[in-house]
Amino acid sequence: MPRTRTPVVPGWFTAEGEEFRLLGTRCRVCRSVFFPREDSFCRNPGCAGTELDEVPLSRRGRVWSYTDGRYRPPAPYVSDPGVEWRPYTLIAVELAAERIVVLGQGAPGVTVADLAVGMEVEAVPGVLNEDAEHIWTTWNWRPVKRGAPRAEERS
Ligand SMILES: [Zn+2]
Repeated sequence: MPRTRTPVVPGWFTAEGEEFRLLGTRCRVCRSVFFPREDSFCRNPGCAGTELDEVPLSRRGRVWSYTDGRYRPPAPYVSDPGVEWRPYTLIAVELAAERIVVLGQGAPGVTVADLAVGMEVEAVPGVLNEDAEHIWTTWNWRPVKRGAPRAEERS
C-alpha cells in the first residue's frame, strides 16, 4: 500500500502539488508577520490586533546562523536507538521582508561546511521522518546555486 505524504505540522507550508512556500500569518493592524503562524491574537506587545491573515513567506532568505547535531539528543527526544544516528544541519534564516528568523534543517547533503552567514538559501520540501504508513513532510533550507539570479536582481 502506498504511504501517504503528511505534513508534520498542518498549515505551516503549502500542500503537495502547489508551489512550495512556508505559510505564516500577518496582523491586519500592525502588519507584523508570524511564523510559526499565530491565528488568534497578535504577538506584538504593542498591538491589540486579533485578526491575522495567512501569507506565504519569502521563498529565499539569508543564513543568520547555523549548527549541526552530531549526536542523538537525550529523551524526551524520540528516536530509534537501533537506527544509526545521522547528523543533521540546523539553519536559522533571516527573511528580510518579514523581519523574522525561521529555523529549519538543511536539505539532505547540506553540511556546515557548505554554509556561511549571509549566504542566500531557499525553502524546499523535505522529509522529516518515515514510518510504515506515512512520509512526514517538512521544509528544508538549501543554498541557492551560485550563478542563479538573485531575487533583488530579478525585480
Ligand atoms: Zn498586530
